[in-house]
Amino acid sequence: MKSKVINEMNMVIPSYSVNESYARYAVSAFVAQMDPTVDELGDIRTVVSEAVTNCVVHAYRDAPGKIYISVKCYDDGKLRVKIRDKGCGIADVKKAMEPLFTTDTTGERGGMGFAIMESFTDKLTVRSSLGFGTTVTMTKCLNIVRK
Ligand code: ATP
Ligand code: MG
Repeated sequence: MKSKVINEMNMVIPSYSVNESYARYAVSAFVAQMDPTVDELGDIRTVVSEAVTNCVVHAYRDAPGKIYISVKCYDDGKLRVKIRDKGCGIADVKKAMEPLFTTDTTGERGGMGFAIMESFTDKLTVRSSLGFGTTVTMTKCLNIVRK
């Protein structure tokens, strides 16, 4: 049976690094209505943090731009979080998603963001187009116990 959207939220924020924690808290406050476990909520915060940080440091590395975040809650306990930017885009998505791959030259980044997002969600898809931007879609199925 196809699951149904029961609630959704959208937000747009500038890619200032101070907004990373705001995005993380806003998404977790919204998904709290789905009664996630403490661990599930922690996973959601982490994946939002990684995806938004990538927008801040990679997508809009030259000048700030908008980050579009959407969250959908489904009647079967599924959550879908989409984080989109209109930044520089990724030349080779497959390569970018490999653990330890980074284009960072400062030594500050470990190249583990996508690997973390993948391990903390049930499904991760990344679509990107050079010069147009990137959309990261994460699906997480909450382990809700039906009464
Ligand atoms: P870490 O996340 O461990 O700090 P990282 O950001 O380099 O390091 P990933 O998050 O896995 O590692 O991203 C891998 C690479 O993919 C980045 O180095 C960057 O080149 C590219 N990338 C990721 N997200 C974006 C994005 N939104 N726009 C443009 N490039 C991106
Ligand atoms: Mg990263």
